[in-house]
Amino acid sequence: MPEGIARRMQEEGIAKADAFLTSTWCARRLSKAELNKHAPREPIEGWEFYVQPEENVYRCHVIVDHQFPYSLPKFLLADVPTFPSWPHVEPDGNLCLRRTNRILRPNEPADVLGVLLGQVVDLIRRGELGLNLEDFQAEFYSYWNFSLEDDAASVFSLLNANAPSRFVRIWPGETRSIVGESEAQVLTWQRHRWGNKPQFDKTVPACLLWLPEVLLPNQFPRSASDLVALARMVSNGKELLERFSRLKLSTYYFVLGATGANGPCFAAVSSQPPQTPEIRTFRKHGTLNGFRKGKMPQAVVAARLFSSSVKAQRLRIDRVDANWIHGRGHDPHQPVLALKHVIVIGCGSVGAPIAEQLTKAGVGRIDIIDPEALTAANTGRHPLGAESIGTNKAIGMAGRLQRDHPHATVRGFDLSYQEFIFRHLEILQSASLIISATANWTAENLLNAQRIRGEIDAPLIFTWTEPHACAGHAVLLCAQSPCLQCGMTTEGALKTNVTIWTDSRDGELTEPACGAVFQPYGFIELQATISLASGLAIEALIDPAKRSVHRVSQTTTAFLKSAGGEWNPNWIEGYAERATGGLQTEINWEKNEQCPACSSKSIDESSISESQIGISNSPSALAS
Ligand SMILES: [Zn+2]
Repeated sequence: MPEGIARRMQEEGIAKADAFLTSTWCARRLSKAELNKHAPREPIEGWEFYVQPEENVYRCHVIVDHQFPYSLPKFLLADVPTFPSWPHVEPDGNLCLRRTNRILRPNEPADVLGVLLGQVVDLIRRGELGLNLEDFQAEFYSYWNFSLEDDAASVFSLLNANAPSRFVRIWPGETRSIVGESEAQVLTWQRHRWGNKPQFDKTVPACLLWLPEVLLPNQFPRSASDLVALARMVSNGKELLERFSRLKLSTYYFVLGATGANGPCFAAVSSQPPQTPEIRTFRKHGTLNGFRKGKMPQAVVAARLFSSSVKAQRLRIDRVDANWIHGRGHDPHQPVLALKHVIVIGCGSVGAPIAEQLTKAGVGRIDIIDPEALTAANTGRHPLGAESIGTNKAIGMAGRLQRDHPHATVRGFDLSYQEFIFRHLEILQSASLIISATANWTAENLLNAQRIRGEIDAPLIFTWTEPHACAGHAVLLCAQSPCLQCGMTTEGALKTNVTIWTDSRDGELTEPACGAVFQPYGFIELQATISLASGLAIEALIDPAKRSVHRVSQTTTAFLKSAGGEWNPNWIEGYAERATGGLQTEINWEKNEQCPACSSKSIDESSISESQIGISNSPSALAS
């Protein structure tokens, strides 16, 4: 076997590190047995040295792993203090340094060690002098979660991360519990995630204490009486605790919340009522030693229920609320999007990914409409795959999005657009935005007419692709005029297409079945149109003053040519950049004063004219 460059660099790196550490820090190499004590960190070499930043002397180890010198050395306190001792000291004594790869210089391991040793000395000094206690609070989760027992249960939280202290609801599970603001919120989340199971039937109260400060490790509750002490730090805590102690619960769940330097933090604690004869009698008969029935102060009950002899079981909390999932609590648009309701008509290779992107972006409620079942041929460019063949596209897609995003509400309707409005017009009328990705002129024309005549108020987005997805369109209409028809021919084709195709079939191919026409574009080419429409949808949702607009995406000229198309001279004339391709353009959606759909003359007519309800499919737009 040849030695290899990596092996030689490693040997040289270790030799350089050894020379530096032994000469400058009087270090000695660790024995195999000593290295083994750090086995979980997989060291290949290590050294021991001493530092004395202030009063005390500390024995330290530095170890390197098999990626060295392409990985940074790690430093540990060899005499491991009880966790948590100081900020940035892990349970095995490892010092959490600012491990930025910018200081990684594989050819100069001595320089790297020098920089890191500076951090080591500083961290130990600040720890010994207690100068960095606030780091415990800023990185609360590290210390709370590190110090939990291995089999500690965890809690998923849907709670709003803010004051005041209050009662919330929890569904207690053996390994995982769910806590939320209301029973409906908790049970809905579970049904969305795991289906409508009989055990998701009720929740119990839990007590959320919103503390004035994030807890330091020495304040972590160890007994139930520590929880009483924490409740006293909160203005309405005493009253909450007394009311809580009146409830006959088999387990009392507390959620602790506070806002730290890096945002809000949550933790959870559970405690069981003590099995003393006194508490058993009280829970059975409502009497307590030394007090007449109905006369004992609730504070006394609380003190005996949450006593120092009752263990507080600390639990880990994972946030699954919308605000956390969409932007880690830092997206200012999230509260707005969470309240929005979008209807996506058409769940094909354009509509389905739009629904997915909007769910991922944090839209709170999405309804998807499509009457078709997924075929094997669809799976090459539809988010759903073989598992869903034969399933209705809208129901299959909504089901998947719902399980993956249980905090949102996603529904599918196995209906054509016309059937949907006959049965569910009120759903359409409650929408914040309607997106048509049907590429079906009949449905689009009907939607356009409904909007012109005031049956629906929400802004509309129409989106479709040209052949081979070489160009994509998204038209946002925010007012009754201009309407979709204003920019279209009466057959439902765009007045100025971006591409032209010399082949009379417009790039379409026919499957060996009657009428099965398709365009052989792929999943990758479609993405430009999908993100064009999704991006426009988000803009329309967060900006109510958004005006009607037409966005166009163009593929590269090379791809267009390879597919057999050309740019339409009417589209590129006077715009050099359009002739180059590979861009996104925004243009006005112009009003047509003679529009057969929205001009004042046509609206005055009592019935919808034939030209408004065309029956042909748009020849330029198939997105199944
Ligand atoms: Zn019009």
